[in-house]
Amino acid sequence: MPLVSMRQLLDEAAKGGYGVGAFNVNNMEQIQAIMEAARETQSPVIIQASRGARAYSQDKFLYHLMLAATELYPEIPTVLHLDHGNSVETCKSAIEMGFTSVMMDGSLMPDGKTPSSFEYNVDATRQVVEMAHAKGITVEGEIGCLGGIEDGHGAGLDGLSHLTDPVQAEEFVKLTGLDALAIAIGTSHGAYKFTSKPTGETLKMERLMEIHRRLPNVHLVMHGSSSVPKELQDVINQYGGKLKPTWGVPVEEIQLGIRNGVRKINVDTDNRLAITGAIRKVFMEKPEEFDPRSYMKPAREAMKKVVAQRMVQFGQAGHAGDYTPISMEEMAARYQPVAV
Ligand SMILES: [Zn+2]
Repeated sequence: MPLVSMRQLLDEAAKGGYGVGAFNVNNMEQIQAIMEAARETQSPVIIQASRGARAYSQDKFLYHLMLAATELYPEIPTVLHLDHGNSVETCKSAIEMGFTSVMMDGSLMPDGKTPSSFEYNVDATRQVVEMAHAKGITVEGEIGCLGGIEDGHGAGLDGLSHLTDPVQAEEFVKLTGLDALAIAIGTSHGAYKFTSKPTGETLKMERLMEIHRRLPNVHLVMHGSSSVPKELQDVINQYGGKLKPTWGVPVEEIQLGIRNGVRKINVDTDNRLAITGAIRKVFMEKPEEFDPRSYMKPAREAMKKVVAQRMVQFGQAGHAGDYTPISMEEMAARYQPVAV
C-alpha cells in the first residue's frame, strides 16, 4: 500500500470514534518499532518527522525508509507527516519530498520561537493549504502556542501562557480550510510537562470541549501528549540516569479528549524514554558489549511495547483493515470545489 493521506485516517477515526497516535522518528529502528506495533495491533499509523529529524536523516534516508515500511507492511495504512513546519518553504520541501501530510505551525514566526499574529498565521496556513490540497496532501495548523521546546522548535513558554481561544479557533478554521487543528490546552513538548499530576487548573480539558462544540467536524490534535510514565523514568534512573521527577498527560485525559474530537495524539517523549532506558540497562549490566545490535534490539523492542500500548489505549488497534486507501489524486479531486 502506498503512503496515504492523513485526512483519510482521521476521517475514519472520527467515524469510528477513536484516536490515532502520531509517533516521531529519526532512524530505522524507530520506524521498525512503530510498524511492528502496528502489525501486532492491526493499527493504521501516522509517522512524523520534525525539521530536526529531517536534518538528522538527510530527509532522503528517512523517506526511503518509509517506502520500505510500506513495502514490508502493505496491510497497514501509513501516513508520513511533517511535524511543526516553521514556514511555507519548509512545508513545500516536505511536499516535494513525498510527505502525505504537513503541519504548518504558523502560531510562531519562521524562527520557530516568536509567537506570531493571527493574520500571519492565517496567511501562511492558507498558502500551505492551497499548495498541499492541490496534491491531496493533508494540512494541520496550530492556533495558540504550545509550551516547551521540541527539537529546537518552540517559544519555551509555560503551557498556559498562550491557550487556544475557541472563538479565534473557529475563525481560523473558516479562513484557512485546514484539515486538522492543533490546540494549546496546557500541554508542553519535552519530558518536563507538569510538576505534579495535572489538574483542571493545568490541563484545560474544558477548553478542548468548548473548541469541539464550536468545531464538531474538525479533527483536533493534542501535542505534547506523552504520558511520561514513572516506570519508564525509573528504568533510566535505576541504570545511572538522572531524570528529575516529572508528570505527563495521563492516558485517561487523552481518552477524554478522544471522546471530544481529538483524532491525532502526538507522542515522542515516551518512546525516547523507553529507548534510553533499554540502552542504559544493557550498558550497566553488560559493560563488555560493543555490538550496537546488542543494545539497539532491546531499545527497539522497548519502544514497540510503548507504541503498541498507546495504539490500544487510543482505540486505533484493530482498524488497519477497515478501509481501502484513497489515492492522493482522488484526495486532490475531493478538495476541488464541485462545479455547478
Ligand atoms: Zn508538537
